[in-house]
Amino acid sequence: MNAEDMACRELVALITEYLEAALPQSEQERLEGHLSECSGCRAYLEQMRQTIRTLGILPKEPVPPDVREKLLQAFRAWKSG
Ligand SMILES: [Zn+2]
Repeated sequence: MNAEDMACRELVALITEYLEAALPQSEQERLEGHLSECSGCRAYLEQMRQTIRTLGILPKEPVPPDVREKLLQAFRAWKSG
């Protein structure tokens, strides 16, 4: 596992707090820094926003661990093209 994967895992884990603007500013800036260089996570964030628009709420448990794992695999596949 490399550092980039760790950052992606972290982002996925913190995305709910991020979307609720519940993160400390330093954390938020760190995630935004990652988003600026990771199109997989940008796509994931956009997907979460669409889910929220569709449901009208932020799902409390948006990504169970197995789904999270699949998303990360999809990111990796997407990145390696
Ligand atoms: Zn990422």
